[in-house]
Amino acid sequence: VVSKERGGEEEYFAEAKADWRRSALTAGGEAQASLWASAQRAREEIFGKRIFVRGVIEVGNFCRQNCAYCGMRRENDALRRFRLARDVIRRVIDESLPSSVTDLNFQAGEDPVALKELVLPVIEEIAKEKRLGISVCLGTVDHRLYDELRQAGARGYIIKLEIGDPEQYRLLQCPGTIERRLEAIRYLVRTGWYVSSGFIYGLPNQTLDQLIGTLDLLRSLTLRGCSVSPFIPGEGTPLFSEKRADLDQTLNAVAVLRLSSPRWVVPAVSALNLCDSSGYVRALRAGANLATINLTPSEWRGDYQLYRRKRWIMTEERVLQAIAQAGCRPSPESWIAASSSFSS
Ligand code: SAM
Repeated sequence: VVSKERGGEEEYFAEAKADWRRSALTAGGEAQASLWASAQRAREEIFGKRIFVRGVIEVGNFCRQNCAYCGMRRENDALRRFRLARDVIRRVIDESLPSSVTDLNFQAGEDPVALKELVLPVIEEIAKEKRLGISVCLGTVDHRLYDELRQAGARGYIIKLEIGDPEQYRLLQCPGTIERRLEAIRYLVRTGWYVSSGFIYGLPNQTLDQLIGTLDLLRSLTLRGCSVSPFIPGEGTPLFSEKRADLDQTLNAVAVLRLSSPRWVVPAVSALNLCDSSGYVRALRAGANLATINLTPSEWRGDYQLYRRKRWIMTEERVLQAIAQAGCRPSPESWIAASSSFSS
């Protein structure tokens, strides 16, 4: 019997009693098909066929962090660094915003200058003018800056935990310290932000125990959403010669997030399409419920290099096509506006 409350988790439990997440993360064949189908049903019980559509503007690639996996790490001297001008950002919002976009996300390397001089003033302006859910993904910064962003009108903060294992977190030079990252997440939750976190799947030497620990840690935070990004060896990083994450297993992790926290917003990330051109659609079929249209002006996209200079860009056309192929439709409501009605 599928419990409405648990969004289908029991259905999968029945098949894999001992530790369902362990079996689920490594599932293949029929077990995998049934896992993804359960996750899809769990999503539909809460959200119907609606997929949230947000636009992202990558406003700059300066970064004071040095994450071993990320092409924007401060020691990557080969990268041409940029910050968009305010009027360029405004032009994107005023002239190129697709009608399907209900949310706008501002993303950058960890760069308080971009935060203060670009993102804050732009949010102050558009929060008054436009009916958009506004979120940011700007890293671990002073509490005062979080407060200022919120006063300006931002409501969602995307801050990935990246890795929940303290030793791996340190070894892979993830942002600051894990204690500080967790403290930032908790502060954001406490001060009323809608917080979405996330982790990277398939990093070198990542174990099943570490993944389960990461999932437990994420569930202990009061999140509105969570993403799984497949590890892609990044150009200009110490991990460039490592193996890429397995797409099917990454999708298993998407399904696990949906089944263990049915009300979370779980994005389909564009890196999935670097694994396989069907990756994005398949994430929507495995329980994801948010799609992102890239709005960064084309002159700068290549420099926003998390993985490779050659990127897979999710245009409006590709996003709408993926949503339709997954048998869904774009949500007319922003995830932030809708969030209060499906918060867990
Ligand atoms: N700097 C901000 C922060 O710390 O939250 C913004 C996000 S950062 C620019 C972009 C995200 O890309 C990271 O949070 C990380 O999860 C992901 N990322 C970077 N390199 C990656 C890689 N090689 N494989 C998978 N995900 C990666």
